[in-house]
Amino acid sequence: MVDFRNNTYFELFSKQNNNQLEVGQSTYSQRIKNINALQRAIEFTFRDQIKEALYKDLGKPAIEADLTEVYPIIGDIKHVKKYLHQWMRKQKVKTTLSMLGASSYYIHESKGVCLIISPWNFPFNLTFGPLVAAIAAGNTVIIKPSEMTPHSSALMAKIITEVFTENEVALVEGEVEVSTELLKLPFNHIFFTGSPNVGKIVMTAAAKNLSSLTLELGGKSPIIVDATANIDMAAKKIMWGKFLNCGQICVAPDYVLIDESIKAEFITACKKWLSTFYRDKPESSSSYGRIVTDKHLERLKLHIENAKELNAIIEVGGDVDASKKYIAPTIISDLKAEATLLAEEIFGPILPIVTYKDLNEAIDYINTKERPLALYIYSKNRSNTKKIIVNTRAGGTCINNNIIHYANHYLPFGGVNNSGIGKSHGFFGFEAFSNKRAIVEQHTFGATEFLFPPYTGLKEKMARFTIKWF
Ligand code: NAD
Repeated sequence: MVDFRNNTYFELFSKQNNNQLEVGQSTYSQRIKNINALQRAIEFTFRDQIKEALYKDLGKPAIEADLTEVYPIIGDIKHVKKYLHQWMRKQKVKTTLSMLGASSYYIHESKGVCLIISPWNFPFNLTFGPLVAAIAAGNTVIIKPSEMTPHSSALMAKIITEVFTENEVALVEGEVEVSTELLKLPFNHIFFTGSPNVGKIVMTAAAKNLSSLTLELGGKSPIIVDATANIDMAAKKIMWGKFLNCGQICVAPDYVLIDESIKAEFITACKKWLSTFYRDKPESSSSYGRIVTDKHLERLKLHIENAKELNAIIEVGGDVDASKKYIAPTIISDLKAEATLLAEEIFGPILPIVTYKDLNEAIDYINTKERPLALYIYSKNRSNTKKIIVNTRAGGTCINNNIIHYANHYLPFGGVNNSGIGKSHGFFGFEAFSNKRAIVEQHTFGATEFLFPPYTGLKEKMARFTIKWF
């Protein structure tokens, strides 16, 4: 057995470990009581402070804070409250005939002590969302939010301390070293949201303790706009989905693959919608956010410079004001294959436009890259849509829209391979934080007893009969 006593967080971990079976046995009403307390804190007590923290960290407009941070958590909570009773019930299943005299069911029992590591782009939503699922499933939780959004992390620490006791839920602030130290502990489940590169580090750490794992990662999420698409509608929705939160969204469209015959019309429509959304002045628009840190701004600036060096066309935007952490909504076309914008997840307000002549070309292009978290399709042609879906793999897809699949609690949310492992949201989040325990209850003399040793000739016949008929 590994000795964890020297770990900085061992005492906290032990407190939760000692409490986990009690929390695991909590009733529906006790779990709902905790969830209600969290709801009150987010919806009422701290709502204004949440908006203030998000403005300080990300320049997030107040309405956007309500719509993309507060609302998704409250929506999640309402969904959990509606269905938790049903999810907590034992799930009866059939019993095979060879096990005559027994009945079978499985239960969703808590995993135990869980670790949630969250990113900065939607700090409240991506921390409290998984937390609600973890509490619903009866776990104790240690949270490590991102160091990039310090005002949000400090406020979340305050909320957690007010709502929970340390042996139920605790939040530890800090940088990478804090994560590294926490990840050494034998958590029963780790729920990580962040980049694929750090996801690999988390998975390696989890392997040491064989902790189960949910990885909600990112990557390049493409959009295909085919020649049959409603161009104006596609442009409007893509401009919204790409530039919301300044493109710092895991399911933001990363790049557009468009039939070359409609490229010019599409770009004209994009320009029209951008000027409508941000009244021709995104730098002074209260509806447009900012880049999270100087480091992230520098990374995005280098992408634009690289595109310019390769003689790409800046169709819209391209302006950067580092002193205000501002990058204009930017659309770039005619990129060379080696452009950095086409290699890495952009995670910022820059949209590359790549043209194709034939739909197969677009599908092949996507399949040369890692499997995306989201793949969006704008098309009026059902056979094109079907062709794209069956010939690609992605965590989720919207047809004639983008991003909104994230908000449907009835759908599983998550990636595939490089964009993630495991699913969350609604029941799928509850499932991620639960152990499905299989239970067989023997009521009477069981048929299997006929097959116990000694193995006489009769047993051999019975074995043959069982294989053939049951
Ligand atoms: P990140 O991977 O850099 O950081 C995420 C968390 O991991 C932070 O709390 C950070 O402190 C911690 N961390 C960083 N380096 C670490 C290390 N070496 N060891 C242990 N922990 C470490 O991600 P980010 O920059 O905060 O977020 C952006 C990424 O997250 C993008 O790739 C985006 O697509 C992805 N993302 C995914 C989802 C989703 O639901 N799938 C949601 C939001 C963001």
